[in-house]
Amino acid sequence: MASSLPFHAACFFDLTGGTRRRAFSPYTPKAMLFFSRTYGVPIVTDPADLAAFDTVFFSLHCFRDFYRVAEMAHWKRAGQQWVAGGNAAATPVGVAWIMDYVWVGDCRDSFPAILRGERDLPGMVHTAKGLHPVTYVDEDLAPGLLSDAEMEVSKGCPRRCLFCIHPWRHRYQEQPEADVVRFIAQAKGRGLGLISNSSNDVSYYAAIDDTLARFGKTDMTVSNSVHGLTPVFVERRKREVFLGVEGMSAVLRQIVNKPISQEVLREKIALCLGHGKQIRTVYQFNLPGETMDDFDELRADVAAMRSQFSAGSWAIPFIPNQPSAHTPFQWLVPTYRLEMFDAIQAFRTSLFGSRKTGIAIYCPAPLGVARWFAQVIAEWIPVTPAVARAVKRLPARGTVPEMVDALAAQGVTLPPAFLHRQQDTVFPWSHVQTAGDDADKWARFTRMQDRIRRKAA
Ligand code: SF4
Repeated sequence: MASSLPFHAACFFDLTGGTRRRAFSPYTPKAMLFFSRTYGVPIVTDPADLAAFDTVFFSLHCFRDFYRVAEMAHWKRAGQQWVAGGNAAATPVGVAWIMDYVWVGDCRDSFPAILRGERDLPGMVHTAKGLHPVTYVDEDLAPGLLSDAEMEVSKGCPRRCLFCIHPWRHRYQEQPEADVVRFIAQAKGRGLGLISNSSNDVSYYAAIDDTLARFGKTDMTVSNSVHGLTPVFVERRKREVFLGVEGMSAVLRQIVNKPISQEVLREKIALCLGHGKQIRTVYQFNLPGETMDDFDELRADVAAMRSQFSAGSWAIPFIPNQPSAHTPFQWLVPTYRLEMFDAIQAFRTSLFGSRKTGIAIYCPAPLGVARWFAQVIAEWIPVTPAVARAVKRLPARGTVPEMVDALAAQGVTLPPAFLHRQQDTVFPWSHVQTAGDDADKWARFTRMQDRIRRKAA
């Protein structure tokens, strides 16, 4: 669907140099590929080629992209306009120093106008005017495909875990069931990307699963809900079963509003391993209220599965929690428990060679504190080349206050609110209004504090 819009002087810049454009990778910048393909906007991977363009679009996928922008910022030529969008752009402060405009929110409806040169649009931050109020653009789920093999099936998430960006920026929406079923039936390929934050939670997922089975096709991008796993689904699943468990214990999962009892978790993992499926259970550490006892529960779950099954493949990655902007977690002071990191590393080492005695368990090394801290502060301060250089000189290990001090010693200071948050704290992203499914995030936060207190009592 090529357009006749006057876009000739505009391009996208791919910050990953084209290395992340694999189909179905979670790291693929889907928006950039979609807009490039739909409107014929070229994608540039070498910054030396940018001079020919008047407008450069950036699709910022994660906070590491802010540092990539800092590294290539000197390529911006006089008179050239830089415009950022993407998931990470919901907290514009990190890139507002170099971008002329930052688009906050969904862009599928608005991109043609932006490409035409319109800038006075809802959701558009004019950085020359400072970080002025804008409303996060939560578009209606667009009909149509992202590519021949990909369709956005739902947006937002009905589960509302307190740490997760999806339910707090977007209303929960689903495509009409008939459109999805038709797409599955008519798509030429066998591997399809049915994009959804929690596939089994789509209200008609049974019909999707039946249609995939009937036409011998597979959902390549599925992220499953633990509760939603059924024997039929597991039996049919040809690819890895991906489960966001998040909390190491049932109590922690309740605290963060992702209640999965230990009994249900073990039952569902056993269901997958019993069917010979490869599984991936993603956990977070540094969740509020977490103690070493919570890790003991996880270790006991793993031991129970190892005693029950003599074969299988199980990946257990750990992600350090980063309190996300625009969620009830935004009032949490970022914490990185070095003791927990060490325990995870010891656990990981203990699993080396596990395949020789039963289930092959793979536990990748978690993100260390220095790189995690670099991501966290990218939501708080402009990520200039000077800040990027200072971040590279941070110690490899330290508590959060020690990291704050190490940064200050290099002349980079964080706002006092970084370590001291109150109900009325003005965050660097407070100028962006988000609603999602429940705009009263503070009430959710205070109820979570009650649960933390009950756990500690
Ligand atoms: S973590 Fe997963 S289940 Fe929870 S709200 Fe986010 S997408 Fe939904």
